Amino acid sequence: MTARTDAPAHVDVLVVGAGPSGLTLGIDLARRGVDALVVERADTLFPGSRGKGIQPRTIDVFDDLGVLDAIRAAGGPYPVGMIWQDGRRAGEHRMFDPEEDGTGQPWMVPQWRTQQILRARLEELGGRVAFGREVTGLAQDEDGVDVRFADGAGTRAAYVVAADGGRSTVRRALGIGMTGETVDPNPTLVADARISGLDRDNWHIFPPRDGDGFLAICPLAGTQDFQVVAQFPEGTEVDLSLDGVRKVVAVRSHLAPEDVTEVRWASDFRPRAALADRFRAGRVFLAGDAAHVHSPAGGQGLNTSVQDAYNLGWKLGAVLGAAVPAALLDTYEEERRPVAAAMLGLSTGVHRGEIRRGRATGQLGLGYPDSSLTWETRPAPGPVRAGDRAPDVTVRGLRLFDALRGPHWTLLTAQDSDAYGTGVLLIRPDGYVGWAGDSAEGDSQESVTAYAARVGATDIRRVP
Ligand SMILES: Cc1cc2nc3c(=O)[nH]c(=O)nc-3n(C[C@H](O)[C@H](O)[C@H](O)COP(=O)(O)OP(=O)(O)OC[C@H]3O[C@@H](n4cnc5c(N)ncnc54)[C@H](O)[C@@H]3O)c2cc1C
Repeated sequence: MTARTDAPAHVDVLVVGAGPSGLTLGIDLARRGVDALVVERADTLFPGSRGKGIQPRTIDVFDDLGVLDAIRAAGGPYPVGMIWQDGRRAGEHRMFDPEEDGTGQPWMVPQWRTQQILRARLEELGGRVAFGREVTGLAQDEDGVDVRFADGAGTRAAYVVAADGGRSTVRRALGIGMTGETVDPNPTLVADARISGLDRDNWHIFPPRDGDGFLAICPLAGTQDFQVVAQFPEGTEVDLSLDGVRKVVAVRSHLAPEDVTEVRWASDFRPRAALADRFRAGRVFLAGDAAHVHSPAGGQGLNTSVQDAYNLGWKLGAVLGAAVPAALLDTYEEERRPVAAAMLGLSTGVHRGEIRRGRATGQLGLGYPDSSLTWETRPAPGPVRAGDRAPDVTVRGLRLFDALRGPHWTLLTAQDSDAYGTGVLLIRPDGYVGWAGDSAEGDSQESVTAYAARVGATDIRRVP
């Protein structure tokens, strides 16, 4: 590894890995003015399309982080599946439940493009990624963490976040185990390819026959590429070359090998569902695939990773801003590990065809009802309770999401609003209702004042 000079001697938060988790956290910390650095082992961002489904809940998050316009412009809706048999179109296949009202539909953007957009936003906010910086080890004491890089350099950080993917070096260095199971022993090829002879209006599905696995070819919105996914029998050594991709496409479809004109990226994987035994060891946190790995079938990985980062960002900001005791950081694992555990079951269920994609995979129903940060004090709560995602509504002509955008807290006074009922609701920076009460007055143990002091809510904006 080339020696780099761009690792400072000290930083408040060192984020390891510039994948979706690390970049999201970098953005959230940068907009809070936290002294943070994202370090990345590779010399460039990840080049493949793999996590291409942005779920509705992540759309909320991207709206708040200021990247939604770019994400919308870069992508498109999922096309309808087309099942092919013997070179003929045999019928449509709806990937998402038809009775859904649209809230379960993801937005398609290739992962490499999402990461470019996140990086651009990070840099716009004054943050940066130090490329070619591989973390090889770390040691922590009461006051900080000493991180070592492959070239022998080191950085001391107050906190470290391992966003370094499923094979996380940091997780291993901490000795945190992963508990789980193999979901499918069959290896799966995923490749971004240029292909002629297929329309871009459908996700082309070639069901298994003659003992082969399935082949699916999806036009990648906003590009000229297709994502090729092909499953192979257990024990197959998957050929990731242009010839290998041409062969599997020609054998399993009506296309000729030469119709695959270019392979821009290819990889293979065997789905596993596993959860880190802990999401935290002292001053080091695990986020994203470093904390949970699972089948890509439900389109949950990138989304859950982004939301891990979004949960942790405001808490690190509050603790480093000295507004609250470091115990606030305990609520990261408390809140995110159960969400990740449930998501593993969901992904495995979708992979095995036991659960349909739709409302559950859209992630809008996720929340933290049992969190110690959830205080519902109204005797008669409305449909939205403390712990729930704060849905968008119009309050006296103002769109609530416009008011929520930014790193602050929001105090919403709801007057018999359909979604929120009547009362006062304190909405967290990550868009969940933290506290709800009949009134914001008073200074009892259960008051909004007591709550705000506990969670470090110093910047509160009122709506209306
Ligand atoms: C075929 C496929 C399809 C998928 N489809 C979807 C989908 O539709 N929707 C969805 O939500 N998810 C999907 N996923 C999952 C998604 O790609 C991952 O969940 C997501 O990339 C996790 O993000 P991350 O930032 O946690 O980790 P990663 O994206 O793995 O990023 C980790 C980064 O850390 C860097 N790194 C590693 N070690 C070190 C080190 N020691 N020092 C410094 N840097 C290091 C790596 O180079 C990498 O850039 C899919 C995955 C696959 C394989």
